[in-house]
Amino acid sequence: APGRLEVIGGPMFAGKTTELVRRVDRARIAGREVLVVSHALDERHGPGRIASHTGLAVASRAVSRASEIPGHLRPGTVLVAVDEAQFLGLDLVDVVTDLADGGVDVVVAGLTVTFDGRPFEPLPSLMALAESVTRLTAVCTVCGRDAAYHVRLHGAPGREAASDALTTVAGYVGGAESYQARCRAHRAVHPPDR
Ligand code: ADP
Ligand code: MG
Repeated sequence: APGRLEVIGGPMFAGKTTELVRRVDRARIAGREVLVVSHALDERHGPGRIASHTGLAVASRAVSRASEIPGHLRPGTVLVAVDEAQFLGLDLVDVVTDLADGGVDVVVAGLTVTFDGRPFEPLPSLMALAESVTRLTAVCTVCGRDAAYHVRLHGAPGREAASDALTTVAGYVGGAESYQARCRAHRAVHPPDR
């Protein structure tokens, strides 16, 4: 039987990694063999580790390109979980499609928007092709409404601080020190200085 593609999307701080780790935990409790994948350039939490803002963490296989993912499958792998999918680009679409067609369940978490409020591939395409989409929002740091966006703070480390490869694929990499979740009304409000 074919597998299923599930997508967990939203802005920063929406709980995407928390939700992904919950799926991984449940699958492991059920005795399912899980492959957890992260991007090699995202070493904010140490290499080979995905981590949430709440402190949850699980070991992962770090890849530089989506095409490396199938090579990490073991004979019994029935679930592949990918975090920070925006780092892997549109190549990820064909890779996860082939995995699901081949009988493996895939759950992908990532940013749906850039910090300037534009759709951030490959998440929009993956959401279009998935059997199931979990769309999460964060809490607006200005007013407390649901936040579907995030903004980059002035003075946050930027292009000059990140590696060339990361700026190419992702724009910027960072966490709470560099970004804030914002609702529709406050997404264009001048962010505070850091
Ligand atoms: P994501 O992977 O989507 O960035 P995480 O799962 O790593 O999100 O972290 C979500 C957690 O971030 C929340 O449970 C909460 O504790 C914390 N958090 C910090 N700032 C915010 C915010 N503005 N809105 C929502 N959660 C926030
Ligand atoms: Mg995350």
